[in-house]
Amino acid sequence: MEQKCLFCGIASGKVPAKIIYDSPDVMAFLDIRPANPGHVLVIPKKHVETLPDLPDDLNASLLQVVKIIAQAQVEAIGAQGVNVLQNNGELAGQAVPHVHVHVIPRFKGDKVVINYSGLVELKEEQFEEIQKRLISKAKELASSMSTGTIKEIKEEKLPEPEPEQKGKKKLHKFKQRLP
Ligand code: AMP
Ligand code: ZN
Repeated sequence: MEQKCLFCGIASGKVPAKIIYDSPDVMAFLDIRPANPGHVLVIPKKHVETLPDLPDDLNASLLQVVKIIAQAQVEAIGAQGVNVLQNNGELAGQAVPHVHVHVIPRFKGDKVVINYSGLVELKEEQFEEIQKRLISKAKELASSMSTGTIKEIKEEKLPEPEPEQKGKKKLHKFKQRLP
């Protein structure tokens, strides 16, 4: 728990919120400035700043609650669609530095705009280079995961990971990754 963190405050009950779901690891509550009525934030109770920092054992419970909330929005308030959004790092629009997943119910004719399609053009070799680097790192990360069926990833389809560069620090903080 971080003393100054708003969402740690909500998780511990010190800061009031309209709570929807409360389990030992995960909490869901109404966003105070909703994009639509029923906009919910789902958080791990443990203070973790961004998704890549989230301990493996919390992944499943976080996503499980996201799914429950999305289903509740459809079945209890008539959502006709649901957006699940998650910002990591200031650059990506993360205002509160405690992992949270936005679950936004959508209704015909609402005013929510989510638009990021086709903003950059990449050459075939750029797609391939990015694919190679991401596959390689994803394979390495999946094999070291402590939980879940992701370990059963189909090895034969993936290339060997590049060896870690010597002296290169493992950084998770998005701030430190920015130029
Ligand atoms: P993000 O930009 O992804 O970091 O989203 C932070 C979200 O937290 C925004 O949608 C805010 O409206 C929401 N928010 C900020 N303070 C509170 C609060 N006290 N209770 C509920 N939601 C909050
Ligand atoms: Zn926190």
